[in-house]
Amino acid sequence: MAAPKTLIAGNWKMNGLRADGVTLAKTVAAGAPGVSAKADLLMCPPATLISLVANTLAEALRHGLVSIGGQDCHHEVSGAHTGDVAAPMLTDLGCGYVIVGHSERRTNHSEDDPMVWQKAVAAQLAGLIPIICVGETEEERDRGEALDVVRRQINGSLPDAAKAANVVIAYEPIWAIGTGRTPSLDDIAEVHDAMRALLTDRLNDGDGVRLLYGGSVKPGNAAEILALANVNGALVGGASLNAEDFLAIAAAA
Ligand code: PEP
Repeated sequence: MAAPKTLIAGNWKMNGLRADGVTLAKTVAAGAPGVSAKADLLMCPPATLISLVANTLAEALRHGLVSIGGQDCHHEVSGAHTGDVAAPMLTDLGCGYVIVGHSERRTNHSEDDPMVWQKAVAAQLAGLIPIICVGETEEERDRGEALDVVRRQINGSLPDAAKAANVVIAYEPIWAIGTGRTPSLDDIAEVHDAMRALLTDRLNDGDGVRLLYGGSVKPGNAAEILALANVNGALVGGASLNAEDFLAIAAAA
């Protein structure tokens, strides 16, 4: 199977008021035709901005120039869960993806692999592609446990119905997120190769699952990271808040 098309996903996290969201989304969409041959673009705004961004980008969404995603979802479709957002609500707004199991959710909201599994299943049932985040702490890497952690997290959170078309995995070493530090290219390649081996073992079309790297991806390091054999894109935090940087990362694919 040919390598899956590169996906550059922007995680805006808890950033942006309405005017910022419109400006950022419009600027990214304006540059999207220039990079669309190289990469698919995904923006994951905070829940408060999804509807506005979707309306602003209606045309670009229709033409498949960009996609929109949520940053998290609840595993139930509705109910007494104050402050949470259900997967079908994201679909209803025009989302095609949702990030689940981001390390900031795992750490700040005590989410574990069974919860992430439930969220990923709920996302798929709602017609969304879950981007399942995995990655080790610095202490785990220092103890030589990075591969074990990543394998355990994938095995614990990958839905039974997973296939190349309905799941994305993002390897995000926690110590590289928002720190400006990245693993060596050899270390990224080692983890991505191990993830690919696990997925081809578990799924019929595991060689087609998009594997994203995340953690301080910037225009200056994107080309060498995206050139690695089993890296099929990037999950970008800080640099996704700057349209020029985000587009430059996509152009580096
Ligand atoms: C992230 O939060 O998913 C992330 C990769 O952040 P940053 O690019 O800022 O390290």
